[in-house]
Formats: sequence, structure tokens, C-alpha cells
Amino acid sequence: MTSATRRLLFIYTGGTLGMVQTDAGWAPGADLEAWLDDQMAEQFPGVAHDFVALDPLVDSSSATPLTWQRILDVIDAHHDSHDAFVVLHGTDTLAFTAAALTFALSGTGIPVVLTGSQRSIVRKDSDAPDNVRGAIRSALDDRLNGVALFFDDRLLEGQHASKISTTDDHAFESMDAAPLALRVGKDLVFTPGERSPLPSAPAERQPFREADIVVIQLHPALSSARVDAMLTPAPEAVIVRAYGSGNAPEDDPQLLSALAGASAAGSVVVVTTQCAHGGVDLGHYASSQPLLDAGAVAGGTLTTEALVAGLTFLLSQGLDADQIRTTLGAATA
Ligand code: ASP
Repeated sequence: MTSATRRLLFIYTGGTLGMVQTDAGWAPGADLEAWLDDQMAEQFPGVAHDFVALDPLVDSSSATPLTWQRILDVIDAHHDSHDAFVVLHGTDTLAFTAAALTFALSGTGIPVVLTGSQRSIVRKDSDAPDNVRGAIRSALDDRLNGVALFFDDRLLEGQHASKISTTDDHAFESMDAAPLALRVGKDLVFTPGERSPLPSAPAERQPFREADIVVIQLHPALSSARVDAMLTPAPEAVIVRAYGSGNAPEDDPQLLSALAGASAAGSVVVVTTQCAHGGVDLGHYASSQPLLDAGAVAGGTLTTEALVAGLTFLLSQGLDADQIRTTLGAATA
């Protein structure tokens, strides 16, 4: 780590780590900037740092693609003056934001590490100090290339993280990709190998806009009439959380024709799995063939969070449905 010459920017977006208890429940109010100044003086003397907070702060359960864009605007405005970025964020949609920034900053190599905590900095048992120090160390490490999420001793690829616990310190897991690095003592031990492929970023990035994306989780009691209603009018994209390796009921022509109708009307229909690991393999079982016939494409091992973020990114770039199907196909092959 060559931290002595580095300048770090903290981007505080909101979340539990900066909250205090109020009559109405936990809400923003801690002096996070002063706390970070202390952390830097104790742990990273000699590293210059600055602090920007979103105004207003956002509980991440209220975040939208426009919140992702507000974070990107700060990074864009400071990337000539700062070498690394730590984004302090609520845990609820941290995985979505990490994936969104990963897609948007793909190919730039700008080191951005997102983190949060299960308990506020004002509590003695807070997990924030460990997470924030790990995020700072990761962002300043020359081996990091691009966007990642640090939580509970693990540095995860931004497009493979999922929140797996509402209470445990071990709140995030990397789905279908090895962690980029593990913290052992104070050191980071990086995993050898390439990072997972990403849909290629356009030369001139357009800002995130709100997108019309529907997520449909298949279940045995789901009626095709309900699916039909969810797809009327046809959204810009549909993510089908199918069974196992991408399977759906074979004997439900109305469900499949609703999906085929949406696809024909211009929706990008992407299939992912309800399983935590392994991804989808459309065509492996006969019961996945109807989804292919309905015009669906496979989401590979991308999580639902990454698909929501990735589809929003590609739609924001002005790509049409066919271009998005091809781009996703290339990234998930
Ligand atoms: N609701 C909070 C948020 O995501 C929870 C947290 O920070 O853990 O902003």
C-alpha cells in the first residue's frame, strides 16, 4: 500500500452506521465526519482525506437509480483530485448500488469501495470501525481495480454481492465468485485470477434514469393471470426468478404466452435462479425450453441485484432490447 501519497474521498450516503436513536427510531444524527477524522488520524496517518455527504441523506431502502447517479456525480466531480473513494451506505440496498457503480465505472479502474454496518458508530459493539477500516485499506490498495464492497473481513466484487443477514456481522456474501480479497489481521490477501466479465461500458456514459423493470418470482401458487397483469403494459425488462437451473412450468401456456407477449412487445426477459449458487443453464432441462421459446435470455450467474442494476444501466445508455440481449449474452456466456 502506498497510502502516504494518496488522497481519499468519503462519500456518505446514509444508513445505520451514521444513525442515532430518536423517539421515532434510529435516524441520521451521528457526527460521522468527526468520527472518520479520528479513524484516519489513528489508523491512516499521512493519508489525506475529504468528506462529502449526500443532501439529504438516504436510508438505502429509499434509494433509486437517481441515488446511484448522485453518487456517480460526486465520483465524476472528484476523480481528478482524489485517488480512491469509500462510499458509506445503508446495508439494505448496498448490493444494488455496488453493482450499479460496478457497471457504470467498468473499464475505468477507479478504486471505489462501498461499505456499511449492522450497528451505528455510536454503539460500543458497532461493526462499523472494522468495516470502514477494511474499506479504506482496500480502496488504497494498488491491487484493487474498480468497484468492490467490503464487509466483515471480505472484499467482494460489486456485481456478485448479496445481503444474506439482517442481524449478523457477516451480512454479505459473494454469489458465484470468489471474494476479491480476505482480511487477515490488518493485511488483505487477494485471490489470484481475473475479475468476472462485465457488459462493456459505452465510451460516453449516460446518467442512470429510472427504469420500468419487473421481477417475477415463480412459485407453485403463482397464477398466470397475475403474471399477465404484471406484464400489462409490457415493461422495459422482466427478470424471471425461475426454479433451479432456469426451469418453469411446462404445462402453463398462459404464463409462457404472457412472457412471450412481453418479449415480442419489446421487453428484455432475463432468467435467473432462486438458488444462491450455480446460475442458470437454459436448455439443460426440457422444462427451461419454453422460457427460451418465449424469447428469454439467461442471466448466467448474475444475482437479481446485479441484473436490476445492469439492466437499468444498459437501458439508461439508450440500448434497444436486441442490443441489451446481445450485451447481456456476451457478459454471461
Ligand atoms: N435501513 C438501513 C439502510 O439500508 C439499514 C442499514 O443501514 O443497515 O439504509
